Amino acid sequence: MPEIKVLPEDVVSKIAAGEVIERPASVLKELIENSLDAGASKIEMEIKKAGRGLIRVHDDGRGMDREDLRLALGRHATSKLSAFDDIYSLATFGFRGEALYSVFAVSRLKLSSCRAGAASGFALEGEGGHVTAELPAPPVKGTTIEAADLFFNTPARAKFMKSDNSERAQLIKTVEEAALANLGTAFRLVIDGAELLSLPVLPGGLWENLKHRAASIFGRSVYSGLVRVEGKTAGMAVYGFVSRADALAATRINQHFFVNRRPVGSALLRQALYRGYGHMLTGRHPACALFIELDPGAFDANIHPQKRDVKFSSENEIFKTICNTISEELLKKQTAAVDLAASAAENKFSITDVPAYRESSAVPPAAAEAPGLFDLTSAAPEQAAVPADWRGQDLNYIGQLAKSYLLFECQSGLLVVDQHAAQERVLFEKYLEEFSKGGIKVQPLLVPLEAELSRSQMETVLKWRDWMKTAGFEIDQRGPTEALLRAAPALFYFTQPAFAEFLGYLSEVLGEPQKAAEDIKRNVIATMACKKSIKAHDFVKPQEALRLMEDLKKSKDGYHCPHGRPTLFHLSAADIARRFQRSSAV
Ligand code: ADP
Ligand code: MG
Repeated sequence: MPEIKVLPEDVVSKIAAGEVIERPASVLKELIENSLDAGASKIEMEIKKAGRGLIRVHDDGRGMDREDLRLALGRHATSKLSAFDDIYSLATFGFRGEALYSVFAVSRLKLSSCRAGAASGFALEGEGGHVTAELPAPPVKGTTIEAADLFFNTPARAKFMKSDNSERAQLIKTVEEAALANLGTAFRLVIDGAELLSLPVLPGGLWENLKHRAASIFGRSVYSGLVRVEGKTAGMAVYGFVSRADALAATRINQHFFVNRRPVGSALLRQALYRGYGHMLTGRHPACALFIELDPGAFDANIHPQKRDVKFSSENEIFKTICNTISEELLKKQTAAVDLAASAAENKFSITDVPAYRESSAVPPAAAEAPGLFDLTSAAPEQAAVPADWRGQDLNYIGQLAKSYLLFECQSGLLVVDQHAAQERVLFEKYLEEFSKGGIKVQPLLVPLEAELSRSQMETVLKWRDWMKTAGFEIDQRGPTEALLRAAPALFYFTQPAFAEFLGYLSEVLGEPQKAAEDIKRNVIATMACKKSIKAHDFVKPQEALRLMEDLKKSKDGYHCPHGRPTLFHLSAADIARRFQRSSAV
């Protein structure tokens, strides 16, 4: 008996489906792309139970006749490709002929379609890849696909689904990206009976529609900080919106890149964006909806449906064009705002001297992944130089430098304390202690603070709302993209913008599965809250400086802020003497 068997068709189809259909949002993405490929001017979507119950997509595209309808469900059945080289000149999203086959393998599917002018439409019904009924359908031009009970026959896969809130957030994000990239198509999204997005095609062309969509997807406050950019070189065009240099955000959640209308993730594009800000970046993150149009032959279109990476054939050109386009626009804005002559020296940065992008080139700090929250930076403070017994010493407060540093005389010289970092450390430990004892002191706010979020951020906030309450934050939803802070831990003080950034950041990080463990979540919220509730450049009174120092002495790690930056360093009297070429300290 041979040991090797050919797998039965239904096993093959489930394996194939696993590669294309990972979660409800992947079904939605495939169905939207099919509707776009069919030339739809309007796509209506209805979702139930976070996509596990039902994903229904209706379009007014060119439709299918009876024979195509049957063929569409087969593997490698496509109307978009016939020879391999065609993929380099494709203008459609799909070409593998795998999506409908895969969705059908793991759901109960209903497919009905009608071509323009046909006397009748046709419908197919089936489940798990088997057709059970073929029916006539009304002669309405377009296609409707309903995928119900997703993963009903692959329970192991169903277990990998995240919570309803995070699946919903992904579904919404999928529609948001499709709507930003396809301005000539109207989108309407209904989730559990409520209309979440309604984006018509407005008269007035590309910019009018892009503005309208960006405003309703990003939320008003992010939208109001955007500027329009546009640039062209031989073989490529770039256009869209990016944040003004003075309207950067704490997170990069609102960054969307599209290549030939496909949403993509690309280190190259992200680096070009950040590099466009030059020295104006200050460690914060721009929002963007950036569209790159390239000849289809100029990048590798053979992307796996689940992967968003693209490969470009001329990386340096693309990098430079994006970077120049952004920096020129920002420079214009900047010079319009200040007296050019007076501040030319300060504000000038070269827009022609853009370094070429290289795979190995160092990522500018802010372009790296979102800053690690509590992994210590490699830059450990020179602890050896800080006297080991500083905690036991009586320190003499000398004063404050640059409203940022506190100077203390110790037995062997000078201790320089970063007041900001020290306050963060002290608050961080106090808060975590209250948290672990289950007694966070909460202070109701007389005037609630508002934060404007994207819809997917809001989903995450709602998902974590109960947990945030245990962390001392009482948060309510006021509108689809508006959250209110009603009470906060008494240890913290937030300004309105600081709270908005805090919540934006939090909603992004809490959505990451690797942050799910309780102690990690606590660290995340503590780190961010401390950072956001402290004002830099504050005058500190001597008593406050001394109290802070006493608190710092008591903290478990007095040497680092929660992000791992040093809180203090030591300058010995001997060092100072050496600088003056003296032979002894005094
Ligand atoms: P692909 O999009 O890669 O060709 P799919 O499995 O997604 O593969 O779809 C198979 C075929 O079914 C498509 O090539 C297209 O001809 C047809 N089809 C799918 N969805 C639609 C739709 N909404 N309107 C018209 N035709 C469609
Ligand atoms: Mg397709």
